[in-house]
Amino acid sequence: MSDCKPFWEEAFKMLHSSYSEQNKEDEFRLWISVLEYIESRGNTIILSVPSAFFKDQLKRRGDVFRLESILSELSGQNLKLDFEIVPRKISPSSEQTNVKPEAPFSAKTAAQSAAQSSYSAAPQQNASNTYATSSQSAGQNYQQNSYQAAVQNSIQNSFSPKKTADNHPKLRNDYTFENFVLGENNSFAYNAAMAVAKNPGHAYNPVLIYGGVGLGKTHLMQSIGNLAWNESKCKVIYVTAEEFTNEFIQAINEKTTTKFKNKYRSADVLLIDDIHFLQNKDGTQEELFHTFNALYDSYKQMVFTCDRPIYELKNLSERLRTRFERGLNVDLQPPKYETRRAILESKLKKMNREIDSDVIDFIAQNVASNVRELEAALTKILAYTDLIGKTVNVDIAQSQLRDTINSPKQANISIETIVKVVSDNYGVSISDIKGKKRTKNVMLPRQIALYIARELTEYSTTELGAEFGGRDHTTVMHSCQKIEEAIKADSNFEMRINSLIRSIKDYKKSV
Ligand code: ADP
Ligand code: MG
Repeated sequence: MSDCKPFWEEAFKMLHSSYSEQNKEDEFRLWISVLEYIESRGNTIILSVPSAFFKDQLKRRGDVFRLESILSELSGQNLKLDFEIVPRKISPSSEQTNVKPEAPFSAKTAAQSAAQSSYSAAPQQNASNTYATSSQSAGQNYQQNSYQAAVQNSIQNSFSPKKTADNHPKLRNDYTFENFVLGENNSFAYNAAMAVAKNPGHAYNPVLIYGGVGLGKTHLMQSIGNLAWNESKCKVIYVTAEEFTNEFIQAINEKTTTKFKNKYRSADVLLIDDIHFLQNKDGTQEELFHTFNALYDSYKQMVFTCDRPIYELKNLSERLRTRFERGLNVDLQPPKYETRRAILESKLKKMNREIDSDVIDFIAQNVASNVRELEAALTKILAYTDLIGKTVNVDIAQSQLRDTINSPKQANISIETIVKVVSDNYGVSISDIKGKKRTKNVMLPRQIALYIARELTEYSTTELGAEFGGRDHTTVMHSCQKIEEAIKADSNFEMRINSLIRSIKDYKKSV
């Protein structure tokens, strides 16, 4: 196919409509409108993106997959997307301005954007609102929105590590004790981590840091690694439990298990993140058990993180469980208001940025679930501040963070609530939904509960499988797919699912 531009333009519009229907215009502007068509090479459409970070995020968000599906549907061919990174000068836009900025684009911000991003020229213009209308065509009319990407990029860069030759190759160099804000929710874990980092193998061994998603487990664990690496130049190995598992499987396949064993048993400090992933992985558990013993006997430090207390893990061998419990188990709780505020202020200071004290307060009051969400909310407000070129007030912050604040993940909807509402609705018992029965009247509500849990909670497919009668993650994925297909095929079914989701959210409010 020689020129796929018409397909691209159509796909772009379709995706725009889909974002609009979901009231996600902001997201569309931030992520999609910035893409520009360059050329077609065979069945591949080449688009420009402003940075590698941007490209990576697009893929992670699923936009690339969505666009490719639309393109293939439109063209009847397997059209793919590829990206070229084109750092662009930020050109002023005078014509398509819907909102007139009252204050010029802050010099500090401009300098910061230029210094922190790979953009060659500092923005010289007054900030222009880059809102585009749906009648604009893909590509050039959205060009000015690359400005937003620059903003996003500059903010992200300031949260991201900058590697130098002295950095540990796998640890983020901004995950340090200095950058970790102390509060009553985390001071015990912080002190334990610090003690271990200063005296690896001798203070507490092992240390297990547990707590919900986005509460700082990885940050704290890597702080230990960074300090131990910098102060004692000892051998620090950081790995996620998933990587450890995959590496072990690969070693078995390639008959290199001795090399694998030697690598992990030669560590002075072994950091294994997210060990809940090891549930049901019997072979890996066995291997870790032996590694554990070898390191423990030679006073080498081990630190683990887990998203829940060890006793709540399912399908973990008893002997490994007792090993994990043998050392110091410390938990991280969600930060309270004061700590949330302190975290926001610390991040702003690090980025050399300022926002209205009321707005900081608003974010700290309303984004309470975890620190990752707090950071995301701040990123959004800063991007918007740069975009409109003036200080954001609480009203604007409120509308910008509407989705975050209303998100079900903020509301911490539990599996129990989902199962309860679905089981009531289908007239089956909770134990049936969570159990092993495979009769049709139980299978459908179970698949629906799994699908909704996947949509509304942070649980992984593996974890959901464990919650729902010890099923494996492929069964969970299969269930979710079935429901997705049914939703696409039958609008009545879609309405039923949406109404269930509403009931689940209302149930949460009413109890
Ligand atoms: P977890 O591993 O528990 O899911 P992370 O360690 O990845 O969470 O933390 C999520 C984000 O929040 C990271 O960017 C981290 O730097 C930040 N963060 C978490 N806790 C704190 C804290 N106490 N002070 C500063 N930043 C924090
Ligand atoms: Mg983590």
